[in-house]
Parts: sequence; C-alpha cells; structure tokens
Amino acid sequence: MFLCNRCGEVFREPDTKRVTENMDGENGWWTYTVAFCPICGSHNIEETAENNEDGPED
Ligand SMILES: [Zn+2]
Repeated sequence: MFLCNRCGEVFREPDTKRVTENMDGENGWWTYTVAFCPICGSHNIEETAENNEDGPED
C-alpha cells in the first residue's frame, strides 16, 4: 500500500508514467519511471507496510 503525504489518500498502486529527459541536449536521453498519487498527482508518496491493516498487533 502507498500513502500520499499531500492528500492523505491510501492506495494499492501508484500511478506511474515514463519520463524522458534530454540531459545534455544531444544524445543523452534519460528515461525513467516516476510514481505519483492517482488522486491528486503528488509525487510525495511513501510505501506502507502491506500487512499493516487496522487492528491491534499481537
Ligand atoms: Zn494525493
């Protein structure tokens, strides 16, 4: 699960998109994937523990 630090939404998978930047203006194309909140689009998200559901721990 993921938590958005901006809107507080919790979601299973973040939206992702591929970003291509031309680093040096020539042949230095750099492609990477960014993850962001599907609700508000913020990149300020963090992964939370999968088994951290509501309820007391033993
Ligand atoms: Zn959000």
